[in-house]
Amino acid sequence: MSFLPLGLSDELLSAVADSGYTEPTDIQRGAIPLILMGRDVVGVAQTGTGKTASFVLPMIDILAQGRSRAMMPRSLIIAPTRELAMQVAENFEKYGKNHKLNMALLIGGVGFAEQNKLLEKGVDVLIATPGRLLDQFERGKILLSGVDILVIDEADRMLDMGFIPDVEKICGLLGRKRQTLLFSATMAPPIKKLADQFMESPKRIEV
Ligand code: AMP
Repeated sequence: MSFLPLGLSDELLSAVADSGYTEPTDIQRGAIPLILMGRDVVGVAQTGTGKTASFVLPMIDILAQGRSRAMMPRSLIIAPTRELAMQVAENFEKYGKNHKLNMALLIGGVGFAEQNKLLEKGVDVLIATPGRLLDQFERGKILLSGVDILVIDEADRMLDMGFIPDVEKICGLLGRKRQTLLFSATMAPPIKKLADQFMESPKRIEV
């Protein structure tokens, strides 16, 4: 099966083709149409399954409509580590090359001043580790009420690293009406609880 029936725009299909991918992976086949429909999705998938593109591709298409507002990111991706956050950012750059999406990173080792300047201008995509995000929120550098799409990436590693309380806190700071996507290699009880508490009738895709 090709990428064609998944519902992505021509611009994205062309970026995918430039990456050399001819067939979607199982998680992409399952998740992309649901995300484009606006559903909450739980993706039970390991790294290496193509899970990053399974949320980045439909998000680019969704975010291509609408405009960013100062200090209010339209989408938020929380990742457990700086490295993973940077990988997600690279995916947005690669597949989003035909779109003009503004992106900022709140992670260790990346200067706050520069990222805060970007946030003030308005970003479509904010990628952050939980601690850094809460830190900047508490300093009043960022408003989270405009987030329409939240992604919790590698929730199992968030759990291993003791970040679940921070993730819960972040979920509680967002506006009520949003689309939430959660990816995890396993569905340990605290992750299931997180999904039950903060997601709306999520569709589960297991690969
Ligand atoms: P991930 O699971 O997101 O860490 O992706 C694992 C690797 O698979 C990355 O190097 C991607 O570039 C690659 N990848 C993602 N989607 C596809 C696809 N449809 N076909 C082939 N490779 C892919």
